[in-house]
Amino acid sequence: MIDSHCHLDFPEFDNDREQVIQRAQEAGVKEMIIAGISQATWPRLKKICEQYKNLYPCYGLHPYFIEAHQPEHLDQLEDFLNINPAIALGECGLDFYLPELDKNKQQEFFEAQLDMALRVNLPVVIHSRKANTQVLQAIQKRPGLRGMIHSFSGSIETARQFINKGFYISLGAVVTFEKASKIRKLASQLPLDALLIESDAPDQPGLKHFKQRNEPAYIVDTIKVLAELRKEDFAEIARASENNARELFKI
Ligand SMILES: [Zn+2]
Repeated sequence: MIDSHCHLDFPEFDNDREQVIQRAQEAGVKEMIIAGISQATWPRLKKICEQYKNLYPCYGLHPYFIEAHQPEHLDQLEDFLNINPAIALGECGLDFYLPELDKNKQQEFFEAQLDMALRVNLPVVIHSRKANTQVLQAIQKRPGLRGMIHSFSGSIETARQFINKGFYISLGAVVTFEKASKIRKLASQLPLDALLIESDAPDQPGLKHFKQRNEPAYIVDTIKVLAELRKEDFAEIARASENNARELFKI
């Protein structure tokens, strides 16, 4: 299995990163994709991915940290992507849930990163929160762009629009909560060949680890729930989501 999106470079893992990776391996989660968030943290992410060959780096400017991003970070990102191995640009995107995040600045940085992804020929990892319409518009303006919508939230119709544009839909542990009925319904309807599975560790723990630090190993619980919801085999979902990640990220 592949954890399609996590943040193992975060300081939350500084004391036991080795054990966290070990636990993931033992659970069958052999590879992990690590999404970048800010210029200041790319070197840390790079170093960790050089240490563990089953971790794959992405570099980007995350909308949640929009205040920290400077215009020159965009040029630096392109240089960084050209010099260092990377499997995707990201995460980038739009977060319109939190009112304090400057929407115009987010839009500028997001669109600049989408153009950059086309130039450096990499897929994009997109964070879209209360912004599916705007994200979709930005993607539609750029034919040939590919990527994943991380921790997707929205309707099956919206998901289909993303899929038609060459995007994968990534689901996390939120499906393990019974009250998450909308996302559970969506999870039961998504085509298997468009599905990715992610932990988003250390964030977004599921029911079993509620209010604890999340870990890549726990995507096993997410796949178990998906198997029930979709009435498919665990192995079938695990294999398909792994193959989808390999196809998109060329790993
Ligand atoms: Zn993330």
